[in-house]
Amino acid sequence: MRQVNKGFSPRKFKKYKEAEPFLEERIGRYCSYCEMKLDNVPAVEHKVSKSEGGDELAWSNLLLSCFYCNSHKGHRVTAINKDEFLWPDEDDTYHVFSYKQMMPILDEKYLRTQSQEIRQKAENTYHLFRFDIDCKSWMRDRRIICRNEARNLAIKYLKSLNEHVDDRTEYIACIVDLAKGYGFFSTWMAVFYNEKDVKEALVYAFPGTDIVSY
Ligand SMILES: [Zn+2]
Repeated sequence: MRQVNKGFSPRKFKKYKEAEPFLEERIGRYCSYCEMKLDNVPAVEHKVSKSEGGDELAWSNLLLSCFYCNSHKGHRVTAINKDEFLWPDEDDTYHVFSYKQMMPILDEKYLRTQSQEIRQKAENTYHLFRFDIDCKSWMRDRRIICRNEARNLAIKYLKSLNEHVDDRTEYIACIVDLAKGYGFFSTWMAVFYNEKDVKEALVYAFPGTDIVSY
């Protein structure tokens, strides 16, 4: 889950939907949780539900979300249990999950270096958004299909990257453009794990990415 920095609140909002263009500009038109490209109108998302004590207009309570993540999350996050989860604009959400395979999983190697509290929060977050959705549900949850499309494309471009010795910089720029078009930042980062210059270009290209080590 891409860790993001939204920056300071751009202004006071009278309606939460007014935050949409600012969120889009600061962190890109992607679901803050599954990283899917939001092709139509990005949905402003309340981390703590309005009905569960969440501040409707507070910049700190707003992110962007796809239909699937928003639906799985429902009203399960309250003002009381909010800190039992990890949030991409507050915590290191990038290293706790692994995107090396088709489905995101908990990054056990990383989590072994972390406290039990972080592990529990990572597990809670993983289940909150149903990143563990079972095979039977695949066809109803387009996050998996779309992520796999992006992954296959990334693998294809990784294979041909080494043929582009003379125009590597230009080729990386094309890869980054594709990645931005498809979304799923962490999947691209995982496929190009051994290509530091590609990862660096991805980090800079996706707005608001806030990852210190990658
Ligand atoms: Zn999503």
